[in-house]
Amino acid sequence: MGINVALDGPSGAGKSTIAKKAAAALRFVYVDTGALYRSIAYYMISQGIAADDSEKVIGALPGIDVRLEYREGSQHVVVNGEDVSDKIRTPEISMGASKVSAIPEVRTFLFDLQRDIAAKNDIIMDGRDIGTVVLPKAQVKIFLTASAEERANRRFRELQEKGDPSTYEEVLADINQRDYNDTHRETAPLKKAEDAVEVDSTSLTLDEAVERVIAVIKEKTGTKGEPPAAGAKKERKPLLDFSGIEPVKRGKKLNPVRMFFYNILRYLVIGGFKIAYNLKFEGKENVPKDGSNIFASNHRGYVDPVFISLACRVPNTFMAKEELFHGKKFFVWIIKKFGAFPVERGKGDMQAINTSFEKLNSGRNLVIFPEGTRSKDGKVGRGKTGVALIAAVAQCPVIPVGINYEGEKLKFRKKVVIRFGKPISPEQLRITTPGPKELKLLRTTIMDSIVELVH
Ligand code: C5P
Repeated sequence: MGINVALDGPSGAGKSTIAKKAAAALRFVYVDTGALYRSIAYYMISQGIAADDSEKVIGALPGIDVRLEYREGSQHVVVNGEDVSDKIRTPEISMGASKVSAIPEVRTFLFDLQRDIAAKNDIIMDGRDIGTVVLPKAQVKIFLTASAEERANRRFRELQEKGDPSTYEEVLADINQRDYNDTHRETAPLKKAEDAVEVDSTSLTLDEAVERVIAVIKEKTGTKGEPPAAGAKKERKPLLDFSGIEPVKRGKKLNPVRMFFYNILRYLVIGGFKIAYNLKFEGKENVPKDGSNIFASNHRGYVDPVFISLACRVPNTFMAKEELFHGKKFFVWIIKKFGAFPVERGKGDMQAINTSFEKLNSGRNLVIFPEGTRSKDGKVGRGKTGVALIAAVAQCPVIPVGINYEGEKLKFRKKVVIRFGKPISPEQLRITTPGPKELKLLRTTIMDSIVELVH
């Protein structure tokens, strides 16, 4: 058995943020058990089952396959093959998780999974009943608390950053309700284990709380967690695993009837846009007539994906920052209809990469904004490697795109020029593997071409 650290406490005490940082410093695996209860709630809600309808919830459990996967050090929860990690962070799912977690059969269902992970690794596991029920023999038990008001305050700020409309009062009421549910349920209620060390984070900064938790762990276990000695070989982060991914089979034809209607719609939208803006396309001869191409563009505004798509006969899909999918339901519905799928930026999001391959394999095009964010002044920033990575593994051509607005923002009747550059083929550059040198060359070639198209 590895070293087991049980970190329990009420909702919003900062367990996950603190545990993540402490685990990274000590090189332990961080296990977020709340995510497991959340994923059960997510599944039930998606099946139209109320989270407090125990009979139906219990009946549906055999249909769920929950797994925890670790990629680049971060935990992903996969339910029946779908990575739900991003979808389980809404207030609705929080409350649902609180309800399903009161059902003893749900707790039993998740028990072995939690124990198995703890048996095989040095872990910090956070939850409500880790020190009392799941890992009663854990070498270290910490009970992390903070006042309900402070916890509500922190959660409120987090939700505001994500654009969630909940008020402070709603968040506080929610915290109080979940505290009540957690402490009053019959099975495995939230309580401090007798041998747990209590850390109250109300008046601590995040760094102070992390330090305190690390100090407790070091004291109890003698773990050092210091950086490797000078001269020792630095452990390299594992690279993303592409071993099972084949290059994209190009030339797949999309349904001709749908394509017919899609193109009628496209011409209508072009008409509308030409009235609204002084819209020009340049280099359209560089846009392939069939699909499975990657368009890599600079990014000025939210309409950019539509501008690019108007020049393509084949419908596009595009990577959009994950935060957009937490917005208003109608907005999320619209962008999904237009082919958007989420990407967690800066994290080597394997799920987004897999979705990209699926879309390219289905014969659709993929639009990526390698800078990862919109540029206000029109200057092209540094591109991320993701686009080169996908192109190298998929072996699909990349068409560079320059989006040019007249002035800072898109304005009625103002000039908009969309320029398409010559396709960049990984094959012609002799790039057949996603090695660091190859990716650098491909990324630089793509970004240089985009810069040339922006003027
Ligand atoms: O920690 P988090 O807020 O993500 O947990 C979601 C819900 O899952 C909590 O409200 C709690 O009711 C439940 N939970 C639990 N036991 C755990 C972890 C979470 O009952 N070990």
